[in-house]
Amino acid sequence: MKIANGIAVLELEMNAGRQFVIHPTLLWDEENVVLIDTGMPGQFAALREAVEKEGVVFDRLNRIILTHQDIDHIGGLTAILRASDHKIDVLAHKDDQPYIEGKKPLIKMTPERMAQLLQAVPESDRKITHKVDQTLVDGDVLPFAGGITVIATPGHTPGHISLYHQPSKTLIAGDAMIVADGQLSGPNPAVTPDMDTALASLRKLAAYDIETVVCCHGGIYRGDVNARIQALTEGR
Ligand SMILES: [Zn+2]
Repeated sequence: MKIANGIAVLELEMNAGRQFVIHPTLLWDEENVVLIDTGMPGQFAALREAVEKEGVVFDRLNRIILTHQDIDHIGGLTAILRASDHKIDVLAHKDDQPYIEGKKPLIKMTPERMAQLLQAVPESDRKITHKVDQTLVDGDVLPFAGGITVIATPGHTPGHISLYHQPSKTLIAGDAMIVADGQLSGPNPAVTPDMDTALASLRKLAAYDIETVVCCHGGIYRGDVNARIQALTEGR
């Protein structure tokens, strides 16, 4: 769903034990098409279709930003790169880089669970890890789609980032927050190993004027976003 000029929220359905939907974000301008997060292994066809549904030619994709190392965010990466006839730059925070590159095991995935998950996908899609071309730190501004600010929001993972799209005042929150039953909520404690750090990260967002939030789980939230985020962190 297009939410403003040059930014759309995608919807990928998947069945990973239980049915759920995830929401990568697509940003574009005349030179760049930027995908934020890549879905699960085996979702390449669905992802391609979702991008083209927004009227963006998939083969223009030239940047991928990963909000963090979890499998439902990095799982589609290698399939996208393999299908492309040109170089696609991969960007991620430096503190999640070693996991994404396979130098350290993913923090929330045992080898057994990974093997089980990958059984269902074609053999060619089973290599998950890949080199990060550009490492990001807090405060970086990326010159894509009118300007995207990198906000380090650790807690859900050590190198989790959120991204602020300046022209549309949209916060792409990754898994730093979720939308559940129409309400913007903090990160899911069951999959957030460091809740204290995660909530401290949310406090940083007060510095941004946010009109729309996109959560990977739950999708789009609009309303008095800054007040809601403040309420989430109060007393914690
Ligand atoms: Zn996650």
